[in-house]
Amino acid sequence: MTTPLLRVEAVEAAYQGSIVALHGVSLDVRAGEIHALLGANGAGKSTTLKAVSNLLPAERGQVTAGRIVFDGHDTGRTSPADLVRLGLVQVLEGRHCFRALTVEENLLTGALGRGARRAEIAGDLARVYGIFPKLKDRRRTLAGLCSGGEQQMAAIGRALMSRPRLLVLDEPSMGLAPLVVRDIFEQLRQLNREEGLSILVAEQNSTVALQYADRATVLEAGRTVLSGDAQVLQQRADIQSFYFGEGGIGRGVEAEIAA
Ligand code: ATP
Repeated sequence: MTTPLLRVEAVEAAYQGSIVALHGVSLDVRAGEIHALLGANGAGKSTTLKAVSNLLPAERGQVTAGRIVFDGHDTGRTSPADLVRLGLVQVLEGRHCFRALTVEENLLTGALGRGARRAEIAGDLARVYGIFPKLKDRRRTLAGLCSGGEQQMAAIGRALMSRPRLLVLDEPSMGLAPLVVRDIFEQLRQLNREEGLSILVAEQNSTVALQYADRATVLEAGRTVLSGDAQVLQQRADIQSFYFGEGGIGRGVEAEIAA
């Protein structure tokens, strides 16, 4: 089997030296796949993604055990900015946009630091507008005045301007209407299928995520408790109700579905 693009190996992480958030998270993202990271509120999805992008120190957090390797690079020893240059680009939870900048200015910030030429940037901008035509209509509008869906598209568009190889998304569906969520996931899948963009997406909305993902990993209380083929996970009603149903996430059962 080929080496995965991203390998998260038995990672433990804590905030402020004592608040342990991750107790042993492992997952692999293969080149060219959409991988969903699932789990209830507080399961550790955001912490895992921040560990992947080496963003924990900015929140007084740190990886205390295990390791994370992106395309041969130990992410704990690579600055977040260098990780972006290497192609690991994250869209943080809450669709962070610069509210006082226009949509187009937001997109252009994604090209900073790449040292790209004007023509190249113009081409990338046109590409993002092709993916999200709504952004083209709103390009002169301040991001702060845009709808939640448009802001999420702008945040994703900005990440695309950095030319990612692995796009990491934290809860892109949060607070958005179901139709807008579908629209965003459809575009992500198209990018994945047509351009081979690898995607790691954390979601509480497991129904949508499993529908679009190739494989998935489930976290519970800071641990990987399940991983495997998304379709298999989707079809197994017992797992569905156990992990994502009203009873909430499963209670300590470890399972491995044939990947
Ligand atoms: P959510 O969907 O709510 O974002 P999550 O699965 O992403 O949930 P995390 O945000 O990673 O979960 O949180 C995991 C644990 O770490 C939680 O117990 C949370 O309270 C704790 N935590 C998260 N961020 C911090 C922080 N900056 N300082 C201290 N504890 C934190």
